[in-house]
Amino acid sequence: MGMISANQIEIHKTTSSRLSQTDFHNLGFGKIFSDHMLVCDYHNGAWEKPQIVPFQNLSLSPATNFIHYGQSIFEGLKAFKCEDGKIRVFRPDANFNRMNLSAERLCMPQIPKEIFIDGLKELLLLEKDWIPTAEGSSMYIRPFMFSLDEEIRVRASDTYKFMIILSPSGKYYAAPVKVLVERQYVRAPKGGLGAAKTAANYAASLYPAKLAQQKGYDQLIWTDSTEHRYIEEAGTMNFMFVINDTLVTPVLNDSILAGITRDSILTLAREWGMKVEERKVSIEEVLQAAEKGLLQDAFGSGTAAVVSPIAVISDQGKEYVLPPVESRSFSLKIAEELKKIRMGLTPDTHGWVTTI
Ligand SMILES: *Cc1c(COP(=O)(O)O)cnc(C)c1O
Repeated sequence: MGMISANQIEIHKTTSSRLSQTDFHNLGFGKIFSDHMLVCDYHNGAWEKPQIVPFQNLSLSPATNFIHYGQSIFEGLKAFKCEDGKIRVFRPDANFNRMNLSAERLCMPQIPKEIFIDGLKELLLLEKDWIPTAEGSSMYIRPFMFSLDEEIRVRASDTYKFMIILSPSGKYYAAPVKVLVERQYVRAPKGGLGAAKTAANYAASLYPAKLAQQKGYDQLIWTDSTEHRYIEEAGTMNFMFVINDTLVTPVLNDSILAGITRDSILTLAREWGMKVEERKVSIEEVLQAAEKGLLQDAFGSGTAAVVSPIAVISDQGKEYVLPPVESRSFSLKIAEELKKIRMGLTPDTHGWVTTI
């Protein structure tokens, strides 16, 4: 038995840290993992005590439920080691709440805050030397949960495993992307799983994304599943654009993932006195604005890149070229402000930052 932390988490430390062999100049994104991970199993209707153990492979029955039927959800957030030596995590409560919404949609048990939030804090403290400090780098945090029942029969599992792994990651450079409007396939249908952060949505997106890449595009703009007329998301991010100095984004529905970056951007823009519209956005509207030169900015928003500028939108054989990235005053300003908040360089007036 290992030591017990103040948060009642059992900690088993590794005897062979990989820290000194890790090249922090070549981290990439989501490729390298820290020495430890958090694990907590759900059995007989209750969560067991969480444990922090050395990062290691799992041993699973080939009949494990999630492998066959996809009861699997996840989250993604970041921690930063700041100039004042403190560790800051951006909006972990929002990720915690969203994970429990995903859990409900996938018939999985709710995760208690003591396991998700306290477990994350404990793990980050233990792994603090793994948090990179170079400009733009961060500790990418991946909480996830999957079903464990060992039985090949379609039904919601009775047992689950919740885990958190940490990936020290370098600057996520979001090169301006060429996107293709998807008019045939859907990422998530109306009434489907789109509002949950679940593996199935990513599985559904791979084939259409591959076809788009074969045609020379980086990503897709997903449209609604009934008419293929309204924009839902951009790749694996939320979609936003600026027209006539108004920030416009598709209103949330059950096939759009409620991004935390999306919410943060809308909140700041409103505070800055900018006009903000959350409503149905047709692809025609965006393309017409682009054609008339009224589309000032268009980007995907998400934790990894924060803002991912869209350079070209292609639809039905026609390409619409957007203004150069250097001229995108809104996305440049919002990315800078979010960076300052996350790094503790400006007062956190929204209570978004958890300091460890
Ligand atoms: C995670 C995710 C986003 C972005 O959410 P953030 O909380 O901003 O990181 C957007 N769309 C999809 C499909 C996602 O899975």
